[in-house]
Amino acid sequence: MTKTLKLIALACVAFCVFTFAKKPSTEINVIPYPQSVEVGKGVFKGAGANFNCDQNIDADCVTLIRDFADQLTYVSGRVNSFALPVGLAKTAAEGSMKGFIFLKDNALGPEEYSIDINKKTCVVKASAYNGFLYALQTLKQLTDVEIFSDKVDPDQKFLFPVVSIKDKPRFAYRGMHLDCARHFFSVEEVKKYLDIMAAYKLNRMHWHLTEDQGWRIEIKKYPKLTQIGAFRNGTMVGKDFNSNDGIRYGGYYTQEQVKDIVAYAQKLGITVIPEIDLPGHMLGALAAYPELGCTGGPYEVWTRWGVSDQVMCPGKEDMFIFLEDVFTELMELFPSEYIHIGGDECPKTEWEKCPDCQARIKALGIKADDKHSAEQYLQN
Ligand SMILES: [Zn+2]
Repeated sequence: MTKTLKLIALACVAFCVFTFAKKPSTEINVIPYPQSVEVGKGVFKGAGANFNCDQNIDADCVTLIRDFADQLTYVSGRVNSFALPVGLAKTAAEGSMKGFIFLKDNALGPEEYSIDINKKTCVVKASAYNGFLYALQTLKQLTDVEIFSDKVDPDQKFLFPVVSIKDKPRFAYRGMHLDCARHFFSVEEVKKYLDIMAAYKLNRMHWHLTEDQGWRIEIKKYPKLTQIGAFRNGTMVGKDFNSNDGIRYGGYYTQEQVKDIVAYAQKLGITVIPEIDLPGHMLGALAAYPELGCTGGPYEVWTRWGVSDQVMCPGKEDMFIFLEDVFTELMELFPSEYIHIGGDECPKTEWEKCPDCQARIKALGIKADDKHSAEQYLQN
Protein backbone atom coordinates (compact mmCIF):
# COMPACT_ATOMS: atom_id res chain seq x y z
CA MET A 1 0.00 0.00 0.00
CA THR A 2 1.37 3.35 -0.94
CA LYS A 3 1.72 6.08 1.63
CA THR A 4 -1.20 8.02 0.12
CA LEU A 5 -3.52 5.01 0.21
CA LYS A 6 -2.54 4.32 3.82
CA LEU A 7 -3.36 7.89 4.72
CA ILE A 8 -6.75 7.70 2.99
CA ALA A 9 -7.52 4.39 4.76
CA LEU A 10 -6.53 5.89 8.08
CA ALA A 11 -8.68 8.93 7.42
CA CYS A 12 -11.66 6.68 6.62
CA VAL A 13 -11.23 4.70 9.84
CA ALA A 14 -10.88 7.92 11.83
CA PHE A 15 -13.98 9.32 10.13
CA CYS A 16 -16.01 6.19 10.92
CA VAL A 17 -14.87 6.04 14.53
CA PHE A 18 -15.55 9.74 14.93
CA THR A 19 -18.97 9.43 13.30
CA PHE A 20 -20.04 6.47 15.44
CA ALA A 21 -18.55 7.95 18.58
CA LYS A 22 -20.27 11.25 17.87
CA LYS A 23 -23.70 9.70 17.40
CA PRO A 24 -25.49 10.43 20.64
CA SER A 25 -27.00 7.48 22.43
CA THR A 26 -29.58 9.82 23.88
CA GLU A 27 -31.80 10.04 20.82
CA ILE A 28 -35.24 8.62 20.16
CA ASN A 29 -36.96 8.42 16.78
CA VAL A 30 -39.96 10.67 17.29
CA ILE A 31 -41.16 13.38 14.87
CA PRO A 32 -41.62 16.18 15.76
CA TYR A 33 -38.88 15.78 18.36
CA PRO A 34 -40.18 16.27 21.92
CA GLN A 35 -39.12 19.36 23.91
CA SER A 36 -37.20 17.37 26.52
CA VAL A 37 -35.83 13.82 26.25
CA GLU A 38 -33.66 11.91 28.69
CA VAL A 39 -32.83 8.39 27.57
CA GLY A 40 -31.87 5.80 30.21
CA LYS A 41 -30.74 2.20 29.95
CA GLY A 42 -32.96 -0.79 29.24
CA VAL A 43 -36.45 -1.36 27.87
CA PHE A 44 -40.06 -1.75 28.93
CA LYS A 45 -42.01 -4.60 27.34
CA GLY A 46 -45.37 -3.42 26.00
CA ALA A 47 -46.78 -6.75 24.74
CA GLY A 48 -49.04 -8.19 27.43
CA ALA A 49 -48.48 -5.29 29.88
CA ASN A 50 -51.42 -4.15 32.06
CA PHE A 51 -53.13 -0.82 31.37
CA ASN A 52 -54.13 1.22 34.42
CA CYS A 53 -56.13 4.35 33.85
CA ASP A 54 -56.84 7.07 36.44
CA GLN A 55 -60.57 7.41 37.19
CA ASN A 56 -60.27 11.20 36.97
CA ILE A 57 -59.58 10.94 33.23
CA ASP A 58 -62.72 11.73 31.22
CA ALA A 59 -64.54 9.18 29.06
CA ASP A 60 -63.25 10.44 25.68
CA CYS A 61 -59.63 10.15 26.84
CA VAL A 62 -60.27 6.71 28.34
CA THR A 63 -61.66 5.60 24.95
CA LEU A 64 -58.50 6.90 23.30
CA ILE A 65 -56.26 5.01 25.74
CA ARG A 66 -58.39 1.88 25.46
CA ASP A 67 -58.09 2.00 21.65
CA PHE A 68 -54.31 2.05 22.03
CA ALA A 69 -54.45 -0.92 24.46
CA ASP A 70 -56.71 -2.80 22.04
CA GLN A 71 -54.35 -2.10 19.13
CA LEU A 72 -51.37 -3.35 21.14
CA THR A 73 -53.32 -6.46 22.15
CA TYR A 74 -54.26 -7.07 18.53
CA VAL A 75 -50.85 -6.66 16.89
CA SER A 76 -48.93 -8.49 19.62
CA GLY A 77 -51.42 -11.32 20.03
CA ARG A 78 -50.96 -10.89 23.82
CA VAL A 79 -53.80 -9.57 25.95
CA ASN A 80 -53.26 -6.17 27.56
CA SER A 81 -55.73 -6.05 30.45
CA PHE A 82 -57.39 -2.68 31.04
CA ALA A 83 -58.52 -1.36 34.41
CA LEU A 84 -59.65 1.86 36.09
CA PRO A 85 -58.28 1.31 39.62
CA VAL A 86 -59.38 3.59 42.46
CA GLY A 87 -56.61 5.72 44.02
CA LEU A 88 -54.27 4.94 41.13
CA ALA A 89 -52.20 8.13 41.47
CA LYS A 90 -51.28 7.22 45.08
CA THR A 91 -50.48 3.57 44.33
CA ALA A 92 -48.41 4.57 41.30
CA ALA A 93 -46.44 7.08 43.37
CA GLU A 94 -45.57 4.30 45.83
CA GLY A 95 -43.86 2.51 42.93
CA SER A 96 -45.44 -0.88 43.57
CA MET A 97 -47.15 -1.17 40.19
CA LYS A 98 -46.29 -2.64 36.81
CA GLY A 99 -47.45 -1.79 33.29
CA PHE A 100 -48.88 1.30 31.64
CA ILE A 101 -50.19 3.94 34.04
CA PHE A 102 -52.21 6.90 32.72
CA LEU A 103 -52.68 9.78 35.14
CA LYS A 104 -54.48 13.10 34.92
CA ASP A 105 -52.20 16.00 35.78
CA ASN A 106 -53.95 19.37 35.80
CA ALA A 107 -50.63 21.20 36.10
CA LEU A 108 -50.02 20.38 32.41
CA GLY A 109 -51.43 22.50 29.55
CA PRO A 110 -54.16 21.11 27.24
CA GLU A 111 -51.68 19.91 24.57
CA GLU A 112 -48.90 19.02 26.98
CA TYR A 113 -47.88 15.54 28.21
CA SER A 114 -45.12 13.66 29.95
CA ILE A 115 -43.97 10.05 29.58
CA ASP A 116 -41.71 8.31 32.10
CA ILE A 117 -40.66 4.81 31.18
CA ASN A 118 -38.59 2.50 33.35
CA LYS A 119 -38.21 -1.28 33.06
CA LYS A 120 -41.40 -1.87 35.11
CA THR A 121 -43.74 0.99 34.24
CA CYS A 122 -44.69 3.46 31.54
CA VAL A 123 -46.31 6.45 33.24
CA VAL A 124 -48.18 8.91 31.01
CA LYS A 125 -49.52 12.22 32.30
CA ALA A 126 -51.72 14.81 30.61
CA SER A 127 -54.57 17.11 31.55
CA ALA A 128 -56.76 16.99 28.43
CA TYR A 129 -57.67 15.13 25.26
CA ASN A 130 -54.93 16.43 22.95
CA GLY A 131 -52.27 15.84 25.61
CA PHE A 132 -53.19 12.14 25.89
CA LEU A 133 -53.56 11.93 22.11
CA TYR A 134 -50.02 13.25 21.55
CA ALA A 135 -48.57 11.05 24.31
CA LEU A 136 -50.05 8.02 22.54
CA GLN A 137 -48.65 9.18 19.18
CA THR A 138 -45.23 9.45 20.80
CA LEU A 139 -45.59 5.97 22.33
CA LYS A 140 -46.47 4.52 18.92
CA GLN A 141 -43.33 6.05 17.42
CA LEU A 142 -41.18 4.83 20.33
CA THR A 143 -42.01 1.17 19.80
CA ASP A 144 -41.91 -1.24 16.85
CA VAL A 145 -43.47 0.11 13.67
CA GLU A 146 -45.78 -2.94 13.60
CA ILE A 147 -47.91 -1.06 16.15
CA PHE A 148 -49.46 0.62 13.06
CA SER A 149 -50.04 -2.75 11.37
CA ASP A 150 -53.32 -4.53 10.74
CA LYS A 151 -51.65 -7.94 11.13
CA VAL A 152 -50.91 -9.98 14.25
CA ASP A 153 -47.20 -10.50 14.91
CA PRO A 154 -46.65 -12.64 18.06
CA ASP A 155 -42.85 -12.37 17.62
CA GLN A 156 -42.89 -8.66 18.37
CA LYS A 157 -42.41 -7.69 22.02
CA PHE A 158 -43.25 -4.02 21.43
CA LEU A 159 -40.35 -2.72 23.46
CA PHE A 160 -40.19 0.88 24.63
CA PRO A 161 -36.87 2.50 25.58
CA VAL A 162 -36.36 3.64 29.16
CA VAL A 163 -36.87 7.36 28.70
CA SER A 164 -38.25 10.48 30.31
CA ILE A 165 -40.10 12.84 27.96
CA LYS A 166 -41.70 16.22 28.54
CA ASP A 167 -43.41 17.69 25.53
CA LYS A 168 -45.78 20.35 24.28
CA PRO A 169 -46.21 21.91 20.83
CA ARG A 170 -44.21 25.02 20.04
CA PHE A 171 -47.00 26.52 17.89
CA ALA A 172 -50.73 26.55 18.67
CA TYR A 173 -51.73 26.40 14.97
CA ARG A 174 -50.15 23.45 13.14
CA GLY A 175 -51.87 23.07 9.81
CA MET A 176 -51.93 21.34 6.46
CA HIS A 177 -53.86 22.29 3.35
CA LEU A 178 -55.80 19.88 1.15
CA ASP A 179 -57.04 20.91 -2.30
CA CYS A 180 -59.99 18.66 -3.16
CA ALA A 181 -61.26 21.06 -5.81
CA ARG A 182 -58.79 20.57 -8.66
CA HIS A 183 -58.23 16.96 -7.66
CA PHE A 184 -61.06 15.21 -5.86
CA PHE A 185 -60.15 12.90 -2.98
CA SER A 186 -62.59 10.30 -1.64
CA VAL A 187 -63.76 10.33 2.00
CA GLU A 188 -61.38 7.43 2.71
CA GLU A 189 -58.45 9.32 1.19
CA VAL A 190 -59.24 12.43 3.25
CA LYS A 191 -59.35 10.28 6.39
CA LYS A 192 -55.98 8.75 5.53
CA TYR A 193 -54.59 12.28 5.12
CA LEU A 194 -55.97 13.15 8.57
CA ASP A 195 -54.38 10.00 10.06
CA ILE A 196 -51.00 11.05 8.70
CA MET A 197 -51.47 14.59 10.02
CA ALA A 198 -52.33 13.19 13.46
CA ALA A 199 -49.17 11.06 13.49
CA TYR A 200 -47.21 14.33 13.29
CA LYS A 201 -49.39 16.07 15.90
CA LEU A 202 -50.83 18.60 13.44
CA ASN A 203 -54.13 20.15 14.48
CA ARG A 204 -55.70 22.14 11.58
CA MET A 205 -56.81 20.93 8.15
CA HIS A 206 -57.46 23.78 5.74
CA TRP A 207 -59.92 22.22 3.28
CA HIS A 208 -60.01 23.86 -0.16
CA LEU A 209 -63.51 22.95 -1.31
CA THR A 210 -64.33 25.23 -4.23
CA GLU A 211 -62.53 26.30 -7.38
CA ASP A 212 -62.82 27.20 -11.04
CA GLN A 213 -62.30 23.46 -11.65
CA GLY A 214 -65.08 22.22 -9.36
CA TRP A 215 -67.45 22.86 -6.43
CA ARG A 216 -67.10 20.01 -3.93
CA ILE A 217 -69.58 20.48 -1.10
CA GLU A 218 -73.32 19.88 -1.07
CA ILE A 219 -75.33 23.03 -0.32
CA LYS A 220 -78.98 22.08 0.12
CA LYS A 221 -80.37 25.46 -0.95
CA TYR A 222 -78.35 25.45 -4.20
CA PRO A 223 -78.43 21.89 -5.59
CA LYS A 224 -76.99 22.90 -8.97
CA LEU A 225 -73.66 23.68 -7.26
CA THR A 226 -73.01 19.95 -7.08
CA GLN A 227 -75.25 18.78 -9.96
CA ILE A 228 -73.45 21.08 -12.42
CA GLY A 229 -70.56 22.73 -10.56
CA ALA A 230 -68.94 19.53 -9.29
CA PHE A 231 -68.10 18.14 -12.75
CA ARG A 232 -65.91 19.37 -15.58
CA ASN A 233 -65.63 18.22 -19.18
CA GLY A 234 -62.02 17.10 -19.08
CA THR A 235 -58.72 18.33 -17.69
CA MET A 236 -55.73 19.95 -19.36
CA VAL A 237 -52.75 17.65 -19.90
CA GLY A 238 -49.41 18.64 -18.33
CA LYS A 239 -48.69 22.33 -18.87
CA ASP A 240 -50.38 22.55 -22.25
CA PHE A 241 -53.12 25.05 -21.38
CA ASN A 242 -55.03 24.43 -24.61
CA SER A 243 -55.20 20.66 -24.18
CA ASN A 244 -58.03 18.58 -22.78
CA ASP A 245 -57.93 14.88 -21.95
CA GLY A 246 -61.64 14.66 -22.78
CA ILE A 247 -62.44 12.71 -19.58
CA ARG A 248 -65.37 14.01 -17.55
CA TYR A 249 -64.07 14.54 -14.01
CA GLY A 250 -65.58 15.43 -10.67
CA GLY A 251 -67.16 14.53 -7.38
CA TYR A 252 -68.41 16.15 -4.21
CA TYR A 253 -69.03 15.53 -0.51
CA THR A 254 -72.58 15.23 0.78
CA GLN A 255 -73.28 17.07 4.04
CA GLU A 256 -73.42 13.69 5.81
CA GLN A 257 -69.93 12.86 4.50
CA VAL A 258 -68.67 16.28 5.61
CA LYS A 259 -70.04 15.66 9.13
CA ASP A 260 -68.34 12.26 9.14
CA ILE A 261 -64.97 13.78 8.14
CA VAL A 262 -65.28 16.63 10.67
CA ALA A 263 -66.08 14.13 13.47
CA TYR A 264 -63.23 11.83 12.39
CA ALA A 265 -60.82 14.80 12.46
CA GLN A 266 -62.07 15.89 15.87
CA LYS A 267 -61.17 12.50 17.35
CA LEU A 268 -57.66 13.05 15.99
CA GLY A 269 -57.49 16.49 17.64
CA ILE A 270 -57.82 18.22 14.26
CA THR A 271 -60.09 21.19 13.47
CA VAL A 272 -61.25 21.32 9.86
CA ILE A 273 -61.29 24.84 8.41
CA PRO A 274 -63.35 24.96 5.21
CA GLU A 275 -62.42 27.33 2.41
CA ILE A 276 -64.83 28.85 -0.09
CA ASP A 277 -62.56 30.83 -2.41
CA LEU A 278 -64.22 34.08 -3.55
CA PRO A 279 -64.87 36.30 -5.52
CA GLY A 280 -62.36 34.84 -8.01
CA HIS A 281 -61.83 31.10 -8.55
CA MET A 282 -65.62 30.73 -8.65
CA LEU A 283 -66.33 29.13 -12.03
CA GLY A 284 -67.70 26.03 -10.32
CA ALA A 285 -70.48 28.16 -8.80
CA LEU A 286 -70.91 30.42 -11.85
CA ALA A 287 -71.43 27.44 -14.17
CA ALA A 288 -74.31 26.41 -11.91
CA TYR A 289 -75.71 29.90 -11.24
CA PRO A 290 -74.59 32.21 -14.09
CA GLU A 291 -76.70 35.09 -12.77
CA LEU A 292 -74.09 35.57 -10.00
CA GLY A 293 -71.44 36.77 -12.49
CA CYS A 294 -70.97 40.15 -14.17
CA THR A 295 -71.76 38.97 -17.71
CA GLY A 296 -74.36 36.31 -16.89
CA GLY A 297 -72.30 33.73 -18.78
CA PRO A 298 -72.48 31.25 -20.26
CA TYR A 299 -69.85 29.75 -17.99
CA GLU A 300 -68.43 26.26 -17.71
CA VAL A 301 -66.48 24.49 -14.98
CA TRP A 302 -62.92 25.15 -16.06
CA THR A 303 -60.96 22.38 -17.73
CA ARG A 304 -57.67 24.30 -17.54
CA TRP A 305 -55.54 25.70 -14.72
CA GLY A 306 -54.54 29.33 -14.11
CA VAL A 307 -56.38 32.55 -13.24
CA SER A 308 -59.73 33.14 -14.92
CA ASP A 309 -61.09 36.63 -15.71
CA GLN A 310 -64.60 35.29 -15.06
CA VAL A 311 -65.46 36.13 -11.45
CA MET A 312 -68.45 36.83 -9.22
CA CYS A 313 -70.27 40.17 -9.40
CA PRO A 314 -70.28 42.22 -6.20
CA GLY A 315 -72.62 44.68 -7.92
CA LYS A 316 -75.49 42.20 -7.71
CA GLU A 317 -77.41 41.83 -4.45
CA ASP A 318 -78.14 38.17 -5.27
CA MET A 319 -74.45 37.36 -4.93
CA PHE A 320 -74.48 38.44 -1.29
CA ILE A 321 -77.68 36.50 -0.61
CA PHE A 322 -76.04 33.44 -2.20
CA LEU A 323 -72.93 33.77 -0.03
CA GLU A 324 -74.94 34.33 3.13
CA ASP A 325 -76.97 31.17 2.41
CA VAL A 326 -73.84 29.13 1.64
CA PHE A 327 -72.04 30.27 4.80
CA THR A 328 -75.15 29.66 6.93
CA GLU A 329 -75.09 25.98 5.86
CA LEU A 330 -71.32 25.79 6.33
CA MET A 331 -71.54 27.13 9.88
CA GLU A 332 -73.89 24.26 10.72
CA LEU A 333 -71.39 21.72 9.40
CA PHE A 334 -68.08 23.05 10.70
CA PRO A 335 -67.50 23.80 14.40
CA SER A 336 -64.31 25.65 13.40
CA GLU A 337 -63.96 29.20 14.70
CA TYR A 338 -62.82 30.25 11.23
CA ILE A 339 -64.04 29.82 7.67
CA HIS A 340 -61.54 30.81 5.00
CA ILE A 341 -62.86 33.00 2.17
CA GLY A 342 -59.84 32.92 -0.16
CA GLY A 343 -59.71 36.33 -1.83
CA ASP A 344 -56.73 35.64 -4.09
CA GLU A 345 -56.30 36.15 -7.84
CA CYS A 346 -59.46 38.06 -8.73
CA PRO A 347 -58.84 39.97 -11.98
CA LYS A 348 -60.92 43.15 -12.21
CA THR A 349 -61.41 43.26 -16.01
CA GLU A 350 -65.10 42.30 -15.79
CA TRP A 351 -65.81 44.63 -12.87
CA GLU A 352 -64.40 47.56 -14.88
CA LYS A 353 -67.00 47.00 -17.60
CA CYS A 354 -69.93 45.82 -15.49
CA PRO A 355 -72.71 48.43 -14.95
CA ASP A 356 -73.73 46.77 -11.66
CA CYS A 357 -70.16 46.84 -10.29
CA GLN A 358 -69.71 50.46 -11.38
CA ALA A 359 -73.04 51.43 -9.77
CA ARG A 360 -71.88 49.76 -6.53
CA ILE A 361 -68.59 51.67 -6.63
CA LYS A 362 -70.52 54.92 -7.08
CA ALA A 363 -73.08 54.14 -4.37
CA LEU A 364 -70.30 53.31 -1.88
CA GLY A 365 -68.36 56.45 -2.85
CA ILE A 366 -65.23 54.40 -3.62
CA LYS A 367 -62.44 56.39 -5.28
CA ALA A 368 -59.26 55.22 -7.00
CA ASP A 369 -55.95 56.61 -5.75
CA ASP A 370 -52.35 56.31 -6.89
CA LYS A 371 -52.04 52.94 -5.18
CA HIS A 372 -55.15 51.02 -6.24
CA SER A 373 -58.05 51.20 -8.67
CA ALA A 374 -61.65 51.66 -7.48
CA GLU A 375 -62.33 48.03 -8.45
CA GLN A 376 -59.49 46.85 -6.21
CA TYR A 377 -60.92 48.85 -3.32
CA LEU A 378 -64.34 47.34 -4.10
CA GLN A 379 -62.93 43.91 -3.22
CA ASN A 380 -61.17 45.23 -0.11
ZN1 LIG B 1 -70.24 42.98 -11.87
